[in-house]
Amino acid sequence: MAARNKRVGVLAIQGAVDKHLAILEGLGVEATRVLGEEGLVGLDGLIIPGGESTTISKGLSRLGLWEPIRAYARSGGAILGTCAGAILLARACENHPVATLELLDLKAIRNAYGTQVDSFVAPCDAGGEPKLAGMQCVFIRAPQVGELGPDVEVLLRVDGLPVLVRQGRLLAATFHPELAGDPRVHALLLAD
Ligand code: GLN
Repeated sequence: MAARNKRVGVLAIQGAVDKHLAILEGLGVEATRVLGEEGLVGLDGLIIPGGESTTISKGLSRLGLWEPIRAYARSGGAILGTCAGAILLARACENHPVATLELLDLKAIRNAYGTQVDSFVAPCDAGGEPKLAGMQCVFIRAPQVGELGPDVEVLLRVDGLPVLVRQGRLLAATFHPELAGDPRVHALLLAD
């Protein structure tokens, strides 16, 4: 399998870190928790999990990880941000704005589907990436993404709105692929 001999880090400030690690291990990848700059060295991919983007943003400051993650991305490192992780990858953020990494050319709108009670599971339109056909998407106080730049491809949509996008080696999912136990989004992160 292509994923063998690869190493992926999961930013372990908050979120379903263990679920991400389990999916990666299922793909045959060495999966590690990232809690400092040294954890980024030699990674083939980095996952920024969901949670609360304000809290994760504070954690990035505490751990001194803002610039190291930007440098990792600019040197061609692959990153998957899920939900709050997608917000943190964005160029800008609306609705309770939070500092972001400004790596992905789009605007994230926090909590755009409403509050926690508006969490839901939905089937998607995989027209942009047929390999993901049939995926069930779990949304928890999810953001929406808009103002997509010209280099941002839409891989999945739900109700016509982008929910999984890619710009070069950066992937952002407004849902939680780790919670449905479907490894296909994580596998995309590892695609060469
Ligand atoms: N609502 C959270 C935020 O704005 C994201 C929720 C999640 O990651 N499930 O940061």
